[in-house]
Order: sequence, then structure tokens, then C-alpha cells
Amino acid sequence: MSSEVSKDFIIAESNQCVSCGLCLPHCPTYRLLKSEADSPRGRIALMSGVANERIPLNKKFIQHMDRCLTCRACEAVCPNHVAYGHLIDEARVLIADQSRSSTSSQNVNIKILLRMLLLTKSARMVQLRQLLSFLQKNGLLRWLLKFNLLEKNRLFKFIAQLPRVEFPYAATTDGNRMISNTWAKVYPAKGEKRGEVALFLGCVARITDVATLNASIYVLNRLGYTVHVPSNQTCCGALHQHSGGLEQAAALAKQNKAAFAALNVSAIISTASGCGVQLLESEVADGHSRITDISKFLIEAEGWESVKIAPLPQKILVHDPCSLRNVLHDQIYPYQLIARIPGAQAVPLAGNDQCCGAAGSYFMDQPEIASMLLDDKISALVAGDAKYLVTSNIGCSMHIANGLYEKKINIEVLHPVTLLARQMGLES
Ligand code: SF4
Ligand code: SF4
Repeated sequence: MSSEVSKDFIIAESNQCVSCGLCLPHCPTYRLLKSEADSPRGRIALMSGVANERIPLNKKFIQHMDRCLTCRACEAVCPNHVAYGHLIDEARVLIADQSRSSTSSQNVNIKILLRMLLLTKSARMVQLRQLLSFLQKNGLLRWLLKFNLLEKNRLFKFIAQLPRVEFPYAATTDGNRMISNTWAKVYPAKGEKRGEVALFLGCVARITDVATLNASIYVLNRLGYTVHVPSNQTCCGALHQHSGGLEQAAALAKQNKAAFAALNVSAIISTASGCGVQLLESEVADGHSRITDISKFLIEAEGWESVKIAPLPQKILVHDPCSLRNVLHDQIYPYQLIARIPGAQAVPLAGNDQCCGAAGSYFMDQPEIASMLLDDKISALVAGDAKYLVTSNIGCSMHIANGLYEKKINIEVLHPVTLLARQMGLES
């Protein structure tokens, strides 16, 4: 049934493509592979062929769809506004439906099952964070890597190279140094009250990007905003959405909508632009609140005159995540946020119009292409000659940081709000 709905959508939307080819130079896989079938125009033609049953849904078709990063650079430049992101999601529904009915696609099913299990239960994130912190503290993960044990397992390698795991700050009246295993329900504003907002935690970010979540609460509180963190919020569903699990993504959106609906807040703030896009497109916000990226919210916020920001006379390179640039079109805000730091000079990282290769789980699924894209970023970083890189998406941040670690290049990668909070006095 879902296949039929997907086919109908693909047939209707692919007809909007006039094959002008204007998207081709913007597509990272076309640039690298020089193959029409790995371009947006070629993929749309293939999807149309499969939906119309002119060509079979075979391994070749799956390969060309799998190589797509879902970066949506093509969509951002398409003069006919072809909804490429929606098209590729529906094509992946067709692939997932076929995989479910095929005994030969066990690996795909196991991968999807893992995503479902891992990402839907927030309690598991708390346990995983504790386990990872323990393994980091006793050095076991790095030890295994050092002796090339499990070196070839990309997921393990990625986990072993994660930055130091941090823990949520407790809501205290006298500062921010107490840590906790879970977030408080409410972090009250400090000083003059200016508003109430909610914070979206994400799933993987609860383990890997606690620093950014803590920093966001710290800055928002000091500008006068009370931050609500509903405990029944869950994963945004982006990984499900982009791997053929549209029904699971919709179920997660429903749970998030219910979690935030009870709150009287003006905004639901996302710190990872990839999650922000998913929340926005799955319409998690109700009529009273809006989904907003943290940088955009802070730039439009009041209360700046009441905070002190220490100078940082440094060049800060800025990476534009595809989700922020191609879909939200909010890429200007991290530059403006960095400009709030006296002396800091925000400079775009060369090649910002091309994906870094992280793209959800793409860096594990398509390691060769992801590595080529990452190499371009590392070269741009070296040429950029700065101590800091800021980026607003945790997936990009970890992917680039791992590339720098492997090449022994000492550039700190962090979220712009984390750098700002540090300059406002938050100690890590
Ligand atoms: S720019 Fe749009 S209309 Fe032109 S080929 Fe690409 S998807 Fe089709
Ligand atoms: S989403 Fe990105 S990788 Fe996929 S076709 Fe469009 S530009 Fe190419």
C-alpha cells in the first residue's frame, strides 16, 4: 500500500523535472563520479522509470539511490522547485518495501532494525552515555584502536573517536557546575524575564553533543529566557525518514508534537540543523510555537545588553551544514552569532556549497564517497589557517572532527553557541 502511495508521488513530482540540468554542477556525487545516474536529474529519471514500472528496482537502482547524500543542494537551485528531498525519501520507501519482502536483504533489515531500537528510546541514551563515559575514562576504546583491534569496524572506530562525553547540568540557582544524568524539566531565566522557550534534545546528540545543549541553556537563561526540556520528547525521526521508514518517522513526530504541545512557549529550539529540518517538515510545532535553529533565535533575541562576552581576537572558520543552508536557508545566523564575540572574525570555510559527507549514517554506508568529501573539507581547513571551526550540525561536527583527529590536525570543532557560551563564562 505504502509503495503505491510512493509511486503515485514519484510519478507526479518527477514530471515537474524539465531535465534542464541546472542542478548538476551543485551535486557532490555528480562532481565526484561524473555519472548521469549519480546526478539529481539522472536519479529522478530512474525513480520515474521504477515508479512507472519501465525499469526494474534492482541492485543498480538501489546503488544510485544509496549514493545520494540527501544534501538537497539540487533542490535549493532547481528553477522548477522539484521536491527532490521528498522524491528520494519515497524512492527509499520503495526500496525498503522490496527489502522487507526479500530474504536476500537481511543486512538492510538489521541496519534499519538497529536504528529503530537505538533511536526511539531516550532512556537508552542515558545508559549509553554512562557506558561510553566509563569506557572513555578507563581508556579502553582508544586502547583497542591503538592496537588496531576493531580498526576496520567503521562504527566502532567512529565511537572510539568521539569527543569526551559530558553530562547535563542540573538547574541550580547559583551557577551551572552541578551535573546530572538527566535534564531538568525547567531551567529558569536569570535576571529580567524575556520569554519561555523549549529545547529539543535529539537522540544521538544526548550522548555526543551535551556541551552544545548545556551551552544553549546557559546562553538562553542569561539573556532572560526560561528553557523547558520535556522529558517525553524523542528522536526527530530524520534517520527513519531517509531510510524508508516514513511511518516510524511520522510516529516519532506525533510523540514530539504531544511532548511540546502542553508547553506555553514561543519557540521550540533545535541545536542541530538536521533535526531542525525534520521537526519543521514533520510539523511538530503547533500554532503557538515555531521550530527555530538556536543561532537564529539568539540573533533575534533580546537581552544582549545585560550579558558580558569576553573578546576572542581570532579567525573562526564557519561550516554551513546542508540542512541549514539548502533547506532552512538560515546559514547567515551562525556568522552573526560569532560576530557577537568582540574581536572574533567569522570566515566561511571554502567549499561550503558541498556536503561534508556525514549525511546521517552516509559516512558509514558509503565510506569511499564520504572520505573524498571529507578530504576536501580537511584541505579547506588547513588552507583556512584557523584554530576553530564552528558548525551547527552534530553529524557534520563529529565527521569533520574525526577527519582532523586521523590526520593529527589540531583545530577545535564546536557549535557556535558553545563558543559563545564559553566567552560568556561557561566553563567546560
Ligand atoms: S534543476 Fe530541477 S528541473 Fe532542472 S534537471 Fe535539476 S531537478 Fe530537473
Ligand atoms: S540530494 Fe545532494 S547528492 Fe542527492 S542528488 Fe541532490 S545534490 Fe546530489
